[in-house]
Amino acid sequence: MTVSTDTSFVYFSLPGRVVFGEGCLSTLPQEVQALGAQRALVLCTPEQRSVAEQVSRQLGDRSAGIFDQAVMHVPIETARAARARAAELGADLAVAVGGGSTIGLGKAIALDSGLPIIAIPTTYAGSEMTTIFGITEGGIKKTGRDPRVLPRTVLYDPTLTLSLPIGLSVTSCMNAIAHAAEGLYAPDGNPIMGLMAEAGISAIARSLPSLCANAQDMSARTDALYGAWLCGKVLGHVAMSLHHKLCHTLGGTFNLPHAETHTVVLPQALAYNTPAAPEAMARIARALGSTTAAQGVFDLAQRHGAPVSLRELGLKATDLDRACELALENQYNNPRPLGRVAIRQLLQDAFDGRRPLV
Ligand code: NAD
Repeated sequence: MTVSTDTSFVYFSLPGRVVFGEGCLSTLPQEVQALGAQRALVLCTPEQRSVAEQVSRQLGDRSAGIFDQAVMHVPIETARAARARAAELGADLAVAVGGGSTIGLGKAIALDSGLPIIAIPTTYAGSEMTTIFGITEGGIKKTGRDPRVLPRTVLYDPTLTLSLPIGLSVTSCMNAIAHAAEGLYAPDGNPIMGLMAEAGISAIARSLPSLCANAQDMSARTDALYGAWLCGKVLGHVAMSLHHKLCHTLGGTFNLPHAETHTVVLPQALAYNTPAAPEAMARIARALGSTTAAQGVFDLAQRHGAPVSLRELGLKATDLDRACELALENQYNNPRPLGRVAIRQLLQDAFDGRRPLV
């Protein structure tokens, strides 16, 4: 976006403190103290129990305990159990160490009780930067925005991402790029979010070759996490469009994995929106160092071994008609109007993993 006399926009910024850098986890006790908390409940998935124990040890007397049952999509039963645990332990803070699922669990507690959150992200999903929450009840994921769920402090320590497997690192990076890409054509975008989006995409695209060559490359991990922060920040400040709507539909109804679904759908959603958002697409392509936005994200994913088709993710061809119907319901704002035939074709292309033509 160039700022000229006919440019007008609204800008706001969500509050929040960010501590970034290799080894910054060691500052957690000071950050907890700065919030005046005495009894922190540490949240994690069962798989990340050991990192939660490390965090809990670091907190010493200020750790109230660990709740290690975070799972994808925040089932209401898990949220209730975590809320009960927090109340029983008299927790005055949640420390969520993990990816979007763990941070989502922290948000579910905060939504109910206003408990402050310190987030320590270990993936690139970006939830720590948004007021967006999601809770799944009876197979239906309800999402919304509420300022109470925004973490007060976020510690981005790239050391904690070294253990993220390369496959999930790549798809999680594509998930982050999706936030920034849609931010560039969001109806409520603004020049600051545009700068963050471009810088975020560029940092991630730059990191992936080295990260895939060596998962322990600290410089690449730092670039990727820095990019994820910027992309998450964009998601926190703008409306989502077609791409996120498709991913929510596919993830929620067909139980497809979150980051992988974003990876597969993004090139097709960008191709769909290309005629209606040429300036945004040019900026995405520039940030990727590619000729076009849609081909750029497709190639980035494929070159780094990520899935490119919904078929690979386990969707059935017979699910595509239903997915199309759901995508057309409760539409999100989108630069190009949604047409049934064109959206069905988009889903077919995503199913087949076709490289976009634009
Ligand atoms: P995740 O949190 O589900 O983690 C996936 C797996 O990776 C888990 O088993 C986890 O334990 C493991 N893991 C995470 N970090 C690791 C590490 N450093 N080393 C080894 N293993 C690690 O995955 P995600 O993609 O981060 O989050 C997906 C969820 O987040 C979805 O439910 C999605 O809807 C939500 N999300 C929400 C927002 C928001 O703004 N509310 C934004 C993005 C994603």
